[in-house]
Amino acid sequence: MKDIRLYDTRTRSKRVFRPLDPANVRMYVCGPTVYDRAHLGNARPVVVFDVLYRLLRHVYGPDHVTYVRNFTDVDDKIIARAEETGREIGQITSETTEWFLEDMGALGALEPDAMPRATEYIPQMVAMIADLVARGHAYAAEGHVLFAVESYKDYGALSGRTVEDMIAGARVEVAPYKRNPMDFVLWKPSDDDQPGWDSPWGRGRPGWHIECSAMSYALLGPRFDIHGGGNDLMFPHHENEIAQSCCAHPGAGCFAQYWLHNEMLQVEGKKMSKSLGNFFTVRDLLQQGVPGEVIRFVMLSTHYRKPMDWTENMRRTAHRALSVIYEKFESALHNIHSDVVREKLPEWRRENLPPPDTAIVQALANDLNTVEALRLFREHAREADATALVDQQKVLANGLFLGFFASSTLASAVVARRAVDLAPLARRLEELRSRAREKGDFSEADALRSALVASGVEVLISKSGVKLLQGPDFDPSKLEGLE
Ligand code: AMP
Ligand code: ZN
Repeated sequence: MKDIRLYDTRTRSKRVFRPLDPANVRMYVCGPTVYDRAHLGNARPVVVFDVLYRLLRHVYGPDHVTYVRNFTDVDDKIIARAEETGREIGQITSETTEWFLEDMGALGALEPDAMPRATEYIPQMVAMIADLVARGHAYAAEGHVLFAVESYKDYGALSGRTVEDMIAGARVEVAPYKRNPMDFVLWKPSDDDQPGWDSPWGRGRPGWHIECSAMSYALLGPRFDIHGGGNDLMFPHHENEIAQSCCAHPGAGCFAQYWLHNEMLQVEGKKMSKSLGNFFTVRDLLQQGVPGEVIRFVMLSTHYRKPMDWTENMRRTAHRALSVIYEKFESALHNIHSDVVREKLPEWRRENLPPPDTAIVQALANDLNTVEALRLFREHAREADATALVDQQKVLANGLFLGFFASSTLASAVVARRAVDLAPLARRLEELRSRAREKGDFSEADALRSALVASGVEVLISKSGVKLLQGPDFDPSKLEGLE
């Protein structure tokens, strides 16, 4: 096995990955703020870091990797949502947390080993803030506690900016109690209607950044291997996490050793936004019948450090690519589903399968080259002999390693397609067409033809009659009511 190499944002270079402790490789990824359904962009870091998690588990062993992803369940957006809807904060956050896990599960993402909720770590946050005050890195002012960025000489090193650049470029909240406009909030006061906890600075709640510092310290210690998230979090969130953590727990190599950031997702070339009308959630897509595996395949079709574009065309291509594999290995895939669906370990080991292709593992080891890994996966499946057990097992092993085959949606669709006989519809269309020729009115025949095309059926009309074929996007459920 060649080394794993990862692009580290901090050094701006691909580095060989050497864990602090190979018996416990530790990764922290910033999780969602829970007040609404995850949108498609939120799914990108989940899928990207799931691939990394799977690779690390493969290389170091499933019991030697600890992956932590938090839930931010105290935040002004959550408070605002509670005010708008009149619902309890706890209700909103627990419902949204469930939704998130369901939706990400549908994309084949394994659950991290720990999923701490911020509200469960308030005492640890208060202790860390008090420590920062005692060490002269933070100060209390008007019920707030602020981190003094000038007290940390490396502030800005991750994103390569100076404090002056940051002030010029960022939307910083100017407040009279701040010594420097870049100083950021560690603790803020809560009024009686807002969630709050007692602290040495009065009743209040934590700022967002301190959550990740306190939770990663509690669960992974002062130094750990990988920290991940979307590149929109690099500044200020990750810069602030580093400042807090390295000032509270100073020492050589403090906090995360490798920083990984995924680029943003766009939709049809545009930033996804509610005002442009191209905003959608993962649940919206699943409800429209897009299988989770197809979403995953699209996500992995672009390298994580490049901006990715969700397009209808990519969705269709991914659906086709996966369907071809499902059709070819239908029976082998059919057997596997009952066992691995929703299992924490949908790996080749559990199934007594051979390990995945070395070339696929190597592709991922090269800074998560998922594009190459997918290419190899498809190529291998294309060349494999569907009737040979060894080949079947290899295809399964490769797919499971990449996080596919863990849901039965596509497999059932393939079975459903097989069961459909289009001959009666072909006869019906032929009848309608011959009647239409007599009447000189093709409207009824054309309506049926359009409905067939809309169901993904290819309609071939020639002198010898009508022939119907299942096209690559054929969806039998859309035929209901046509016969
Ligand atoms: P948030 O709940 O906004 O803090 O976002 C949760 C995660 O989703 C963070 O890691 C963000 O970087 C990531 N994220 C948000 N929008 C996008 C997007 N359009 N593309 C990729 N990642 C995103
Ligand atoms: Zn974070």
